[in-house]
Amino acid sequence: MLTIVQTCTLIGIDGVVIRVEVNLSNGLPGFSIVGLADPSIKEAKERVRVCIQNSGFSFPVKKIVVNLAPASIKKSGTHFDFSIAVGILIASEQIEKTTPRSEAFLAECSLNGDIRGVIGCLPMVLALKSAGVKRIFLSEENWIECLMVKEIELIPVKDLTDFVACYHNKKETEPRSALDKVDQIHYSVLGDFSDIQGQSEAVRAMQIAAAGRHNALMIGGPGVGKTMIAKRMPTIMPLLTEEEQIATMKIHSVAGMPLETIIQGLPPVRMPHHTITKAALVGGGNRVLPGEISLAHHGILFLDELPEFDRHTLELLREPIEEHRIRIARSAHSIEFPSDFILIAAMNPCPCGNYGSKYHPCTCSRRERKRYLDHISGPLRDRLDLFIEMEEPLYTYEPSQKTVTSQELRASVLLARQHQTERYQHEMFHSNAELAGGELSKYCQLSRDSKRLLQQANRKLRISLRSIVRIQRIARTIADLDQEDQIKEAHLLEAIHYKQNSSRYWGDGE
Ligand SMILES: [Zn+2]
Repeated sequence: MLTIVQTCTLIGIDGVVIRVEVNLSNGLPGFSIVGLADPSIKEAKERVRVCIQNSGFSFPVKKIVVNLAPASIKKSGTHFDFSIAVGILIASEQIEKTTPRSEAFLAECSLNGDIRGVIGCLPMVLALKSAGVKRIFLSEENWIECLMVKEIELIPVKDLTDFVACYHNKKETEPRSALDKVDQIHYSVLGDFSDIQGQSEAVRAMQIAAAGRHNALMIGGPGVGKTMIAKRMPTIMPLLTEEEQIATMKIHSVAGMPLETIIQGLPPVRMPHHTITKAALVGGGNRVLPGEISLAHHGILFLDELPEFDRHTLELLREPIEEHRIRIARSAHSIEFPSDFILIAAMNPCPCGNYGSKYHPCTCSRRERKRYLDHISGPLRDRLDLFIEMEEPLYTYEPSQKTVTSQELRASVLLARQHQTERYQHEMFHSNAELAGGELSKYCQLSRDSKRLLQQANRKLRISLRSIVRIQRIARTIADLDQEDQIKEAHLLEAIHYKQNSSRYWGDGE
């Protein structure tokens, strides 16, 4: 007897619907799975057999052939278990046959009969929904991550016996109130900008970075609070829109990462160590997985100790910074992952960390310093808009320093973002950081005095034309934070200041 049930597989971060054909026939008893299945699926045979037996059902003593169609797609993962088990139960007439095209099954079977969660459940649920599936049985573990997908019935099951009860509609499924548990936003877990003592310039620069989606580099010795600042970035950014949330969750789901903060709408912040491999940073590996740059999609990628990263690895960031996605080539095909992030980088001013310090002497030679700084190539520096020189921490205790809260910063960032959304509503881009060429002159119109100021900067400070573009972008964001349509000289002067920070280290000839 032939039975067909549906499940899904992943290609990159997208699901593809798979038909599981289960045929039971008389003949020498056996169990085979065909249809370009990798070893993880072949192992399903043992899990499914024991799971069925330990759940009080009988495993048919027949010749069982399972075909995963279409056979042209390479399949991997443990989530095929459940659909194979259901197919066998229907084919052996232990459970009723229903409407196969409108149902799907996504879970791993365990030996004691439990139905377990799988990675990448959300993108698979989305793919099944677009294919017209109306009801999906999945594990309780995966249920919450998929609740954002509307207009589809998601039925969480504990074990195979529980599944059979739900399948025959003998058990009521809980309503979606489970989402209420995660509805509250817990900013407190991320800390607050008011925790940061001093560093007013860095805090201001982060406000600008969050408002215009600019990439930034903080330069300062160890222990000045660079990591503390980067960690708090999501608290001053707008919450993710539903569309952004789903896009970000798909990536995290495929990588098997926790999803709680994204479900709350908080942008992700990723902080990979400088020893990270190329594949872990940009994506790749045997089973092509998204890397840190994609896990930071719609959020923050924080790279501490920037010059310590492998130079070739850093150069790989250029494409995603420009195009907001990364393409990973494989022999047969290429996989694309979205990677639209704000890059916040940090570094010491020199290898020993004391260059420019009032309290500690720098022990580095000029050559050592230059080699250290040269690790960050010109093209990569070109993609950074804001350069910040961190203050050295004071050794005297000054409790009276005024700090600004994340809530205050977020309010101004939201207003500045709103200006950009309105201004760029007919454009292909949506933030000041993306302004270039014709758009730059269209949206950053300058008064005669402002033009003169830039010309002076160009001549006297020897600021290159490329840097002038960056100055205008930043000035546009500063004006947006000030609720001004016109870029004023004060906005330009502040923007020039961030450029001068870079000149102090790398000179002007960029
Ligand atoms: Zn030094």
